[in-house]
Amino acid sequence: MKVLVLNCGSSSLKYQLIDMDNESVIAKGLCERIGIEGSVLTHKPTGKEPFVQEAPMPTHTQAIKLVMDALVDPEHGVIKDTSEISAIGHRVLHGGIKFTESIVVNQQVKDVIRECFDLGPLHNPANLMGIEACEEAMPGTPNVAVFDTTFGMSMPPKAYMYAIPHEYYEKYSIRRYGFHGTSHMFVSGEVLKFCHLDPKKGKVIVCHLGNGGSISASIGGKCVDTSMGLTPLEGLIMGTRSGDVDPAVLQFIMNKEGKDINEMLNILNKKSGMLGMSEVSSDFRDVEKAREEGNEEAAVALDAFVYRVAKYIGAYTAAMNGVDAIAFTAGVGENDMKTRKAICEYLGYLGVKIDDEANNVRGEARIISAPDSKVQVVLYPTNEELAIARETVRLVQ
Ligand code: AMP
Repeated sequence: MKVLVLNCGSSSLKYQLIDMDNESVIAKGLCERIGIEGSVLTHKPTGKEPFVQEAPMPTHTQAIKLVMDALVDPEHGVIKDTSEISAIGHRVLHGGIKFTESIVVNQQVKDVIRECFDLGPLHNPANLMGIEACEEAMPGTPNVAVFDTTFGMSMPPKAYMYAIPHEYYEKYSIRRYGFHGTSHMFVSGEVLKFCHLDPKKGKVIVCHLGNGGSISASIGGKCVDTSMGLTPLEGLIMGTRSGDVDPAVLQFIMNKEGKDINEMLNILNKKSGMLGMSEVSSDFRDVEKAREEGNEEAAVALDAFVYRVAKYIGAYTAAMNGVDAIAFTAGVGENDMKTRKAICEYLGYLGVKIDDEANNVRGEARIISAPDSKVQVVLYPTNEELAIARETVRLVQ
């Protein structure tokens, strides 16, 4: 069974065609500058030369049609006919409080995705465009929506409620949702197996450390807490996002600098985090290089990043009354052994011991703790596309 996985942004569309019989990627690619002049498709069929095509893509529908053409092309295609695609899995950012699971798309589902536009203003409209484009290009092929928020829906109220007047929850569903849910679901589930933990009771903390960063606590693969909130702004220090901050800081800066709330949120989302603290870059490699060259702010930014992750691990260990495994994933988590080690150095009180040789690894599933570590520490590469494809198969079979 072949599943197409789509991740639509406002002007981009990423795809993977996965053969679910052996979970192998048959082709993947990216459409960029949709709706803007200079649209381009980069198609990478497995085992063949990549194919780049500049062609007008005024809408996501045109982009999908070009993807379909590329997939069936006699030269760089990988299938004979689009009817070989059994289903399409869509990454959808926000499912609000209505969706606690992935779901096969129908009109009602599309209505709810639309209702959630103000909870996910950048992503949900693009995600819906992607779904509607597929309905047009491949009528009759089932579409499945896999929400970034559903993993967090198993949190108990004590974890998801904000301590603000209750009426805002009632009126507007203001609560903590959590994001990167597909990644946390995938990694926590895989780590239960990889570390031979009890599938129902295993306590796992997943540190998804990429340009965006979040951390989750789960028992038996069910989320009990996660660091992102109503939006992805809460929690860890990220590439450009501040993570947790005293809301009064906003008012103070707004008054001093004559900024409005939108400008302020733009600063917290796009100009803060590692970029804002270091004044060097949002990319860890650049900030680490600057630290090596003696840049003080870069050193403080890296220390603060590590410290915040370690504090959350402590909090989540308390929330679960213990932890069996701590997993690192995403760009920084999978590639940066210094950061993994620095975080684990805070965790001696839990009996965590890192094996330096095992930790000298990038992008491969591996236990990186010493055999006598009381908690297993593991590097586990995330694979959101595969997680979406698995959900899609589960729902359409
Ligand atoms: P992601 O959002 O998961 O793609 O992660 C992207 C981030 O991973 C980049 O911004 C880098 O900061 C980080 N990254 C990738 N490779 C390395 C590396 N070798 N060392 C440190 N950080 C890395």
